[in-house]
Amino acid sequence: MGEHGRRWLFADQLGDHFLDSDDQPVLLVEAGSALRRRRYHRQKAHLVLSALRHRAAELGDRALFLRTATFGEALGRAGGKVTVCGPTSHAADAFVRGLAGVTVLPSRGFTSTAEEFTAWAEGRDGHRLLMEDFYRDARRRLDVLMDGDEPAGGRWNLDADNREPPPAGGLDVPGPWTAEEDEIDERVRHDLDRWERDGEVSFVGRDGPRTFPATVAEARSALRHFIDHRLPAFGPHQDAMLAGDPFMAHSMLSPAINLGLLDPMTCVRAAEAAYRAGHAPLASVEGYVRQLIGWRDYIWHLYWYFGEDYRDLSRLSARTAPPAWFEELDADAVEARCLSWALAQVRDTGFTHHIVRLMVLGNFALQRGYDPARLTDWFHRCFVDGYDWVMVPNVIGMSQHADGGMLATKPYAAGGAYINRMSDFCGPCRYRPARRAGEDACPFTAGYWWFFARNQEWLAANPRTARGVHGMRRLDDLDEVCAQEAARGDAPL
Ligand SMILES: Cc1cc2nc3c(=O)[nH]c(=O)nc-3n(C[C@H](O)[C@H](O)[C@H](O)COP(=O)(O)OP(=O)(O)OC[C@H]3O[C@@H](n4cnc5c(N)ncnc54)[C@H](O)[C@@H]3O)c2cc1C
Ligand code: SF4
Repeated sequence: MGEHGRRWLFADQLGDHFLDSDDQPVLLVEAGSALRRRRYHRQKAHLVLSALRHRAAELGDRALFLRTATFGEALGRAGGKVTVCGPTSHAADAFVRGLAGVTVLPSRGFTSTAEEFTAWAEGRDGHRLLMEDFYRDARRRLDVLMDGDEPAGGRWNLDADNREPPPAGGLDVPGPWTAEEDEIDERVRHDLDRWERDGEVSFVGRDGPRTFPATVAEARSALRHFIDHRLPAFGPHQDAMLAGDPFMAHSMLSPAINLGLLDPMTCVRAAEAAYRAGHAPLASVEGYVRQLIGWRDYIWHLYWYFGEDYRDLSRLSARTAPPAWFEELDADAVEARCLSWALAQVRDTGFTHHIVRLMVLGNFALQRGYDPARLTDWFHRCFVDGYDWVMVPNVIGMSQHADGGMLATKPYAAGGAYINRMSDFCGPCRYRPARRAGEDACPFTAGYWWFFARNQEWLAANPRTARGVHGMRRLDDLDEVCAQEAARGDAPL
């Protein structure tokens, strides 16, 4: 078995960077309990099973691949010395640490260690844990986009260059990399159909061809395609949305990185090399690198740092259960064009880019006061790249402000004017983005003021939202707007 023992790889630890040598024996487990626990998007279940089975096929005799009802049963059957890299959720971490005969190693798949984060956080000296500070520290520590002690190009942050509205004629970039399915996918599809027919599992969303990488080789081709063809255009329109181009120039690599198929530093080094070779502008490369060594690691560490109870926080007035049409991705029932489009994207692909998650889906839920824990569960189940560690801080903290500002300095609430500026949704919509009252009142514009009215005490105390509260108090039709929004109830908008 070798000095390192058999390495148990969870389904989100599939790359070689989770192994210590190229002949280390491996344990892979396909546990039925994991799929039955929740009602996942059909394409998410497909991607995870496909990736796991592809890894087992690649490793051949090196892997003991067990299909069991539970993980515990598989561990019992594997026997011998087993090691595992720290898993990615509180529940899985507690589970592996309680298993006799299993040694838990530090986590992998991120660009900073728990010790590095703790040292950084403790050195804050009473200051807030700001992502921007963490990111600059990571740039220096990892020597990414640095010219000596200075940031390449003289600026740490090129965000100001990256907030352009969508270009009039659309983005002129080749489409994203897509997968070609093989016989393993065929088998996965067959199994999922059968289990669903037999009532063993149930899914949300529609089935569709697999579009995201399921192997390391596929993930590397997808990365190469992004760096060569899409990265140069990534930056400027990062926050824009176009109905005819759901993916714009985003990398769409989060599913592969979160499955462990790509090491994030491989992506970062490839992006930096493109900048150094004069192939991609700094604004795009800095924007991309910030997401990976900044946001992604920051979110990961805060998941552990804030602890298990963080998921239950609900510091704003948010207690409403998301209605069935939202939960079931019933895009056709919805007339608000931006929201209908976003729900259709999730239904058909299990994916949307960041601004759609934050400024359409998340913003809508925030305005309507959806229960943050239920919303976290919804995002987790419906998105192909969703895992506990990434969903809890992104939904509870970033999107819903349910932590009262531990992660983000203000709630991401915006009205129709923002969506109108950053997308082409509003023109043909049956609502008018500038109207807050009446038949054609935009539910985002009216919902924005309703959210402010419900949370005015809290928002008045925050310097970043106090002006919005003053603006709200000057509205002469606020009561009418609030009554109109409350009356919408559970009905699709
Ligand atoms: C409500 C909400 C839910 C989200 N859920 C997820 C999720 O389940 N899984 C997930 O990986 N990301 C999540 N994100 C973050 C972000 O939206 C996705 O990482 C991104 O849209 C993935 O698409 P991409 O690979 O094309 O990203 P790009 O725009 O190409 O960005 C590059 C990479 O940066 C990383 N990244 C950027 N922002 C974040 C972030 N906030 N948290 C973690 N990683 C980040 C991702 O690995 C991503 O691949 C969520 C954000 C919000 C607001
Ligand atoms: S008018 Fe309002 S509801 Fe319609 S697309 Fe624009 S923001 Fe969305």
